[in-house]
Amino acid sequence: MSDAGALLQVLHAITDELPQHEQRLNELDAALGDGDHGFAITRCCRAIRERLALIQDASVAEALAAVGTAVVAGAGGASGALLGSALVAAGRAAGDGQPVDAARVADMLDAAQRTIASRGRVGRGDKTMLDALAPAAEAARRVAGSGGSVGDAVAAAADAAEQGAEATGEMVGRAGRAPRLGERSLGHPDPGAASVALMLRVAADRLRGAGPT
Ligand code: ADP
Ligand code: MG
Repeated sequence: MSDAGALLQVLHAITDELPQHEQRLNELDAALGDGDHGFAITRCCRAIRERLALIQDASVAEALAAVGTAVVAGAGGASGALLGSALVAAGRAAGDGQPVDAARVADMLDAAQRTIASRGRVGRGDKTMLDALAPAAEAARRVAGSGGSVGDAVAAAADAAEQGAEATGEMVGRAGRAPRLGERSLGHPDPGAASVALMLRVAADRLRGAGPT
């Protein structure tokens, strides 16, 4: 399968799966913010699906630019703007016409996490989606460095993102709506980190189901 074909399958799988976690993501957000992160993610998924339906023949870079722009325009909320920009940045890092190997996956995740850090004005440990995405990018880079496949890189990224998301439970919120809670944010994992980890897990499962990549 082409790289673009694999990406479209991954995006379809993510947009099928994530809305099923809407309630849990809303509950996580209710403990720290305004309780709407699940709704925001469902809106992101809808924006991606609507845009995917219009794509006939696109490279990885073009497809990510298209869906990212649609998410920025259509999803709303802090998370929609950040996730959409991260998708656009990942598309830019994909480089038009270049084959996607594990190193390219690491480049794409790295571009995504840099965009979240700069647009969101956050660093690691601030208890945001960055705490899932930054370790994911590092894990993919390690796999690329040891000659692993795209599937291996995304699987390692998903593992690292899950650990990162879990670790946000022990962090005090310093971004978005959580800072007003101070120490009371302890014990509650960040919803944005949880949704990033879910997306990467779905991507890893989909790539494994598609056979070696
Ligand atoms: P909103 O805060 O507009 O209600 P959501 O509830 O959809 O948006 O998303 C909240 C999530 O967005 C947080 O859990 C966090 O991961 C992420 N987030 C919020 N603000 C920032 C920021 N400045 N930088 C990075 N991530 C952020
Ligand atoms: Mg919210």
